[in-house]
This record gives sequence, structure tokens and C-alpha cells, in this order.
Amino acid sequence: MSNDTHDLYEDHAFFALMFDCEICYRVMEFTSEHAEFTDPWFHELAQQAKAEGWYVPPPDEKGMVDVMSAWCPECAVRLGYIPSPTQT
Ligand SMILES: [Zn+2]
Repeated sequence: MSNDTHDLYEDHAFFALMFDCEICYRVMEFTSEHAEFTDPWFHELAQQAKAEGWYVPPPDEKGMVDVMSAWCPECAVRLGYIPSPTQT
């Protein structure tokens, strides 16, 4: 069990201030009622990215996290980072 309330998405939101795709440069559309760059704003940004299926890389074996990298849901699936949803 961990009481660390951080997660990779929150870290990415905090450092990168947005989710933009490394591959196709798509930027996640995000609006919030909270003031920009406040804790609840970061939290909402992170939660939306997670809900939409954005991918952020996990820490490497040294525990270093590439906080500036993210992949949009389409690229994450295409590159095999996350399982493909059912194709239509
Ligand atoms: Zn992309």
C-alpha cells in the first residue's frame, strides 16, 4: 500500500502543464473551472488525460520518470503502449 497521492499523470501535468503527443503533436483539449496551474487544475488535467487513454511512460529501472513525454490515445495504441480497444 502507498499513501503517495501522486501518479504519473499528475507529475506530467505538473511539469509539462499540458498533454501533447510526442508523435503527432496533438494537444489534449482541456478546460477547467479551476484557476490554471493550481492543484485542482493539475488534478483535473491528469484525470482527464487518464480517462481519455493518454499514455505517460513509467519510471525506468533507476526510478527516473520522463515527465515531459506523453502519447495520445491513438499513438499509444498504435505503438503498443496500451492495448487496442475493440476496432470498429
Ligand atoms: Zn499522437
